[in-house]
Amino acid sequence: MPDFLVLVFIFVAVVVGFFIGRTTGKSAGKFTQNLPWTQKRYFEGLTYLLNEQTDESLDNFFAGVDVNTDTLDVHLSLGGLLRRKGEVLRAVKVHQNLLSRTNLTRHQSQIVQLELAKDYVRSGLLDRAETLLKELIEHNAIARELRLESLEQLIDVYQDTKDWLKAIDVADRLTTRKFAMQSDKWREVQAQYSCELAEASQLLKDWFETRKWIRVALRYDKNCVRASLLQARLDMNDNKYPTAIATLKMIPKQNLAHASEMVRPLVECYQKLDGESSLLVELQVYLEKQNDLVALNHLCVIVLKSQGAKKMLEVLQKLLPRYSNQEATLKLVETLLVQYDGGEYSFQLFQSVIDKLISVKPRYRCQNCGFEGGELYWLCPSCKKWAAMISTSYSVQ
Ligand SMILES: [Zn+2]
Repeated sequence: MPDFLVLVFIFVAVVVGFFIGRTTGKSAGKFTQNLPWTQKRYFEGLTYLLNEQTDESLDNFFAGVDVNTDTLDVHLSLGGLLRRKGEVLRAVKVHQNLLSRTNLTRHQSQIVQLELAKDYVRSGLLDRAETLLKELIEHNAIARELRLESLEQLIDVYQDTKDWLKAIDVADRLTTRKFAMQSDKWREVQAQYSCELAEASQLLKDWFETRKWIRVALRYDKNCVRASLLQARLDMNDNKYPTAIATLKMIPKQNLAHASEMVRPLVECYQKLDGESSLLVELQVYLEKQNDLVALNHLCVIVLKSQGAKKMLEVLQKLLPRYSNQEATLKLVETLLVQYDGGEYSFQLFQSVIDKLISVKPRYRCQNCGFEGGELYWLCPSCKKWAAMISTSYSVQ
């Protein structure tokens, strides 16, 4: 039942509760005097529930009402509403009470079991949630949608406990033909789990395992930027800079939205190889495709060093109009270019422009929920979506 219907139902209950309170001050008032006993108890119980009364009133409520196909939906919606409000213990009580009913069909019991598992997840009782969910997914007779949601919930549990191997195993079931519609999405997520295992191995300096998990990640998702970055970093640590450069140059093709992650290690590699002219070309090619102030900064520094200040100002004049909020900076660049006479005085004038550009710090924003942060989280801390945070360094903050 949608929330608004629950709210309508709740509103009726509150109005009834209000009249009960106003008319007699006791639980049974004039307004409900003519109602059948069970219906009266139902309204009273709901009113208590919504007025956040004691657990005792919850018990009374359940003692007085039947659960049947008509009222099950209301109970489930109520339980879900309590959970969303953060009243998890009361939601657990609602769902446990439902499970204790013997008149539920198997399908209805499974729905309630899943709801109870969600309550446990929300309250941090992950082992209890895991037990319930494993029972559900192992059941032969379970509706497809319920199995799907149970599998997704179980993956969430393993994500929260950082049990990446188990998460990969459960996700395997979501890449089967039965769930073919979402298999690509789950393979991308499995690649992220593999990267987590690679990073854990990296911390232990187990390079064999690190490389193994990077390979596994790329097998799950050949466009996994995170795996390529890890691979490039390992090669850089082994002084294999040309190999690292080849890997890094693949990143814009893998996913242009994450391409700015390539810039810093790429600069580092070319600096180690004394290949600034090659770097200049790489950055120019990249900046044709993508607005990226971090890359633009590096380009400016190289051009300033190799071709002088006037050329650098020309580069800025050409590229800055592509970025948002750059009018003021661009105006300054144009003024400086007109005034430029090659002397030290002019250099000092445009130093502030360079400083501003060079001080750009990468910021990241989740494409899914808008969460912002100064560092890249592969798993968004807010909406728990993988690889959804991208650099916002296309504009000066
Ligand atoms: Zn997010």
